[in-house]
Amino acid sequence: MAIRPLNPNTFANSPLDRAGHVRHDEAALAALRSNDNARVAVLRDGRPLVAPRAPTDAAQIAWLKAGQTEKLAHSVEIFLGLDGDVPLFAREATHLMDPREGGPLAGLGEFHELRSLLPFLPAGDAAILAQARALLDWHARHGFCAKCGNASVVSQAGYRRDCPACKAEHFPRTDPVVIMVGTCGDEALLGRGAQWPQHRFSALAGFLEPGETIEEAVARELEEEAGVRAVSVRYLFSQPWPFPSNLMIACLAEVADKTLKVDSDELAEARWFKKSELPQVLNGTHPDKFLGPPPFAVAHQLIKAWCET
Ligand SMILES: [Zn+2]
Repeated sequence: MAIRPLNPNTFANSPLDRAGHVRHDEAALAALRSNDNARVAVLRDGRPLVAPRAPTDAAQIAWLKAGQTEKLAHSVEIFLGLDGDVPLFAREATHLMDPREGGPLAGLGEFHELRSLLPFLPAGDAAILAQARALLDWHARHGFCAKCGNASVVSQAGYRRDCPACKAEHFPRTDPVVIMVGTCGDEALLGRGAQWPQHRFSALAGFLEPGETIEEAVARELEEEAGVRAVSVRYLFSQPWPFPSNLMIACLAEVADKTLKVDSDELAEARWFKKSELPQVLNGTHPDKFLGPPPFAVAHQLIKAWCET
């Protein structure tokens, strides 16, 4: 269901039709589940099962057939959607043996940390795994009703948890984070986190607070972290970031004045970079060794997009 123009970010542009209308239709779901084409992605504590590979080889999701997931019958199941006419599901495999040591998944794949796989995964697989990881993690952390404390149960094909005791319905959460590059003429403001290596810089970022607009959050973060005042804020694009459930909202913010007042609790340093030097910061060839965020980070795409304007 990708839209044009394509979003440049890792985890964006899912190839799936989420087919939300079947989530509340048990008969339709059962038919999809028993379809010969149905496939299941398996994750273990957020680590996807990928086809066996050497460390530097391309990676791909190890899609299992129904007959290969019998031992997962009691684990949480998510309906991911349809890839053409192929129904796709995801399941949690925390209780199964590591396939390297044997057990029912032996020979079917390997579990790897998702971030370490990003340089090797097709874009569509990364987007599907963002959906699967965020949802399965939400279930793992929300087993009890936030209203009355009783155990809740999975419903709506994995998109809701219901409390049998008080009838409350709980929906998966997404936590929005604003990430912004302050700009002044042809210069851009980047910061270095308190614990980061000496030459590493990136966009500033912070959680959107309740009752706040995106524009207000961007202005507040720039003021709090760097002491600069935003005069205009422009949304560029967003990135699902399933560690565990963020949505990164990338913005450009024109600021009134370049004078910085850095919050040393948040940042070790903030600095203005000229548009002409940022490509070297991004690709690691800057003469002063400044280094930007990696391509799979939305901050990289945000800085790159500003350089191209
Ligand atoms: Zn309850």
